[in-house]
Amino acid sequence: MIEIKNLQKSFGQHHVIKGIDLTIDKGEVLCLIGGSGSGKSTMLQCINGLHSIDDGKVLVDEIDVFDKATDLNKLREKIGIVFQQYNAFPHLSAIENVALSPRVVKGMKRKDTLDLAAKHLEHVGLGDKLNHYPSQLSGGQQQRLAIARALAMEPEYMLFDEVTSALDPELVGEVLDTMRMLKDEGMTMIIVTHEIPFAREASDRVAFFDQGKICEIGDARQVINDPRELRTRQFLERVL
Ligand code: ADP
Ligand code: MG
Repeated sequence: MIEIKNLQKSFGQHHVIKGIDLTIDKGEVLCLIGGSGSGKSTMLQCINGLHSIDDGKVLVDEIDVFDKATDLNKLREKIGIVFQQYNAFPHLSAIENVALSPRVVKGMKRKDTLDLAAKHLEHVGLGDKLNHYPSQLSGGQQQRLAIARALAMEPEYMLFDEVTSALDPELVGEVLDTMRMLKDEGMTMIIVTHEIPFAREASDRVAFFDQGKICEIGDARQVINDPRELRTRQFLERVL
């Protein structure tokens, strides 16, 4: 379970996260929607300790992310994160990209990491691309490679930050389908997305971010089909 309590974060004078309270249960899928600059990425990055915070608490399975005694590397093994921009190593094949972290971080044997990498690449539908280099893959395939890389660490949580925003429209579906598959397998996920129909169908709850706060949170269909807050309604009218 991930618990966020009164999270406050500023960059210099700029107060970006203004008191967020949020709990994500094991097995839950939460989509975060909201305008650019509303603090979605910053909050996501606070969950695995990529930023310092000014106040509040983030607990992942009761581990306090911002306690000095917390081993952040250990914590990050629990939490996979995939970003908008593809970040595969260009000089490594798909299978070598996926095998790298289990080898370096977990100290697994090379043969075992290659078997593990092949398994995860097959799982995301790239079983026929094991020896392709990132430049030989489409954007959608590169994002699935990034997902396989995160999964190879066998995380308990997956965070996705606009993973389809840089893709050509015809490639978006295959990446959304991969996230749907993970949901069906019971993965706990927080997904920042502008794909509103996906958020409605594929998540349990949707949170609408506005100016560093959660303006509205609730059942995915309710928030998107029948928002209670005027600002949620206005946002959805602009993007749908
Ligand atoms: P979102 O993901 O909702 O678009 P972000 O969390 O990326 O929003 O950004 C929230 C605000 O914080 C924005 O105004 C952004 O410019 C600012 N911001 C984000 N990261 C940094 C940073 N590393 N340094 C300074 N300002 C930042
Ligand atoms: Mg963002």
